[in-house]
Amino acid sequence: MQKLYKTYSDFLSEHFSGKIQKIAVNMGMSCPNRDGTIGKGGCTYCNNLSFVPEYCRPDLTVAEQLEQGKLFFGRKYPQMRYLAYFQAYSNTYAPLEVLKKHYEEALMVDKIVGLVIATRPDCVSEELLDYLGELSQRCFVMVEYGVESCTDRTLKRINRGHDFACSVKAIKCTAKRKIHVGVHLILGLPGESRKEMLNQADEISALPVDVVKLHQLQILKGTRMEKDYQESSSDFHLFSPEEYARLVVEFLQKLRSGIAVERFTNQSPPHLLATEGWGLKNHEFVHILIRVANESQGS
Ligand code: SF4
Repeated sequence: MQKLYKTYSDFLSEHFSGKIQKIAVNMGMSCPNRDGTIGKGGCTYCNNLSFVPEYCRPDLTVAEQLEQGKLFFGRKYPQMRYLAYFQAYSNTYAPLEVLKKHYEEALMVDKIVGLVIATRPDCVSEELLDYLGELSQRCFVMVEYGVESCTDRTLKRINRGHDFACSVKAIKCTAKRKIHVGVHLILGLPGESRKEMLNQADEISALPVDVVKLHQLQILKGTRMEKDYQESSSDFHLFSPEEYARLVVEFLQKLRSGIAVERFTNQSPPHLLATEGWGLKNHEFVHILIRVANESQGS
């Protein structure tokens, strides 16, 4: 049977031998869509508390955070090597000299073999990409863009502060410098049809993207989306795991086979969720996905 998708491990094994783990670090950055530079209040679904691991404390230096992460992961696999994952908020939103200091501090830490930098597509300059392009000649560098949707109507509705053309430009400018490109998409954003969600697989496949992260829409407490949901819940369709798995199977059938999928779900802590969560880890969802894919092939 043909493989359902290229895994993130498949992708990493093209670049490294041995086990690689990402360690999230928090530089205490802000976000231009929160501080008024681009917008105020942020994306309507955003509650950054939901994606910062507990060990990730901006009061510690980047090196200290990485050492803590290494202690956490290294017990089980002493030979493990790591990628520093600049995850929370927009990790390119600072003067270049400040960013360089943080990135290079990470690379000085023993067993850190590369960087993964999460950011917004409207938050990268040519100057920064030139620097990351040079850096990627000596270590692994990936920029992970929050694209979230390929539909401008949706991007406006969720107050992203950029359009899809902006994502396309950032992805192309990044890949042109031989920097790896990751893309984050949310499936199930309000007002989006199933067809529009699936079309995104074609849009992304046409771009020089290496890795995609998908996740189901979750509505978090204290967000603007929570209010939107309370006012007009009929605009939202919150998937069951089975339904979402069926959508993802179709998405994968359309996605270019060379693009790896790093994850399919995100499970925010239950106390942050405004609606009922699935209580499923990504690997548990993958079991459902494989079963649904097999059923759809009649095997
Ligand atoms: S760009 Fe990221 S950090 Fe900024 S408001 Fe949107 S989701 Fe939150």
